Amino acid sequence: MSTPQVSHVDSTDEMQLQTQLYIDGRWCSAAGGAQLAILNPSTEEVLAHVDAGNADDVDRAVRAAARAFKSWRNTNGSTRARYLRAIARGVEARSERLATLQSQNNGKPLEEARIDVGDVIATFEYYAGLAEGLDVNGDSEVTIPSAEHRALIRREPAGVVGLIVPWNFPMVTTAWKLAPALAAGCAVVLKPSEITPLPELELASIVAECGLPPGVFNVVTGTGVEVGAPLAAHPLVAKVSFTGSTGVGQTVMKTAADTLKGVSLELGGKSSIIVFADADLDLAVDLVTGGAFFNAGQMCSATSRVLVDRSIADALVERLVDRAARTVVGDPFVPGVQMGPLTSRAQFERVQRYIARGKEEGARLVIGDEPVTGAGYFVRPTIFVDVPTNSSVWREEIFGPVLCVRSFDSEQDAIDAANDSEFGLVATVVTSDTARGKRVADALDAGVVWINAPQLIFPQTSWGGYKRSSLGRELGPFGLAAFQEIKQILSTRNGE
Ligand code: NAD
Repeated sequence: MSTPQVSHVDSTDEMQLQTQLYIDGRWCSAAGGAQLAILNPSTEEVLAHVDAGNADDVDRAVRAAARAFKSWRNTNGSTRARYLRAIARGVEARSERLATLQSQNNGKPLEEARIDVGDVIATFEYYAGLAEGLDVNGDSEVTIPSAEHRALIRREPAGVVGLIVPWNFPMVTTAWKLAPALAAGCAVVLKPSEITPLPELELASIVAECGLPPGVFNVVTGTGVEVGAPLAAHPLVAKVSFTGSTGVGQTVMKTAADTLKGVSLELGGKSSIIVFADADLDLAVDLVTGGAFFNAGQMCSATSRVLVDRSIADALVERLVDRAARTVVGDPFVPGVQMGPLTSRAQFERVQRYIARGKEEGARLVIGDEPVTGAGYFVRPTIFVDVPTNSSVWREEIFGPVLCVRSFDSEQDAIDAANDSEFGLVATVVTSDTARGKRVADALDAGVVWINAPQLIFPQTSWGGYKRSSLGRELGPFGLAAFQEIKQILSTRNGE
């Protein structure tokens, strides 16, 4: 395949890019003076240089947050909701610029980036509503077997929280943490991915402009080792909410154990889409390709394992190959492009290694062997069939546009194969039999199951998985509870 042509959309001309740390209500340089070069994955050109913080910057940010928390914690929910709604309006006002930065820095097609921006707005709006609800549903009385006493349960903000996020859905993974943390009354230190800080810093500038008291919201950009690790270790941080790889999540949890801080983890996945013989095949092709190639397959929720009833396997694979062959890979800014590049050279090389290993391990490659030459981290949609269940491509998270297909002979076989994973994030079931859809969803060890539906995620619901995919849940009321402590107040009734 030839090199995709990449247009140069330079949003940097339109408005100054934010490249500094934001600490205690001010933009500032990193203590050590270090910077990171931020690349455009479509061209490998440098988009910007961003300040790279270290442990001193983390300490300054955490101390600023701890000072701010003393009064921020006492604000009422409606006050906090006003800030959240202001952020949502700010994102709406700058939505096209945010989407542009997302596509430039992450490489996803502009249409996908616009979906991300919509998700950010919806998340801030949703948690604004929950914050307002806190004023109404504050203390709740618990029925106890004592006429003389009264027990109240109250939710309080957890304290200073560290938010550590990855590069595959910048702004979205941030919003899923930042909105509930602020709604709960926590003070925040955010550490964006060192690969995609540009859309995150733009979001940060919107948050900074909404007038939050200094120190309530801080951003320290930099590497995992220089910024993430000291944030997870800091004794004044009450809780770390981390989204990223399972290995780094384990490290964060071990670090947090030293100061016994709370930890929420959103980690990797290796999820299945199960296609039954009674499925609408057109729908199945849409759902399989959407679950595997959206965001170039760089999704924790990628349904990269296809389990298909043997009787329709050939027909489904034929259509998947056809769809993959027609997928337009290229410049994320060109209308009609369906897949951009992978987001970093490291990810590109990792995916290439997995494709090579899949072939060595005996999986049969049916499409995707044509290299994409030239600049940029482009990979064609790739499909393996007859994939051995003990192969790395079947068992490990690849995080790229690589689909692995196996056939099954019975419903129970399909369920067992889907559950045979150390992960349990999501699953999709495609069937025209409603009872079967429900039965299979009930039997799957996964935090989210879509039946005949694309991967829609509403902030009102829940996000997270079983087994090594997650610790805790985001979104919905669970996302708010993750940033709250519980206080019981027991008093004598006559002392009221
Ligand atoms: P990563 O684990 O390499 O990095 C995630 C974040 O952690 C980055 O900000 C990084 O700088 C930081 N970090 C790295 N080392 C650290 C350390 N020692 N201490 C503290 N922080 C450190 O992950 P990634 O490559 O950025 O993202 C891809 C991974 O994220 C995939 O495994 C994917 O499945 C996962 N992910 C999960 C979800 C989910 O909701 N479950 C969502 C998106 C991505």
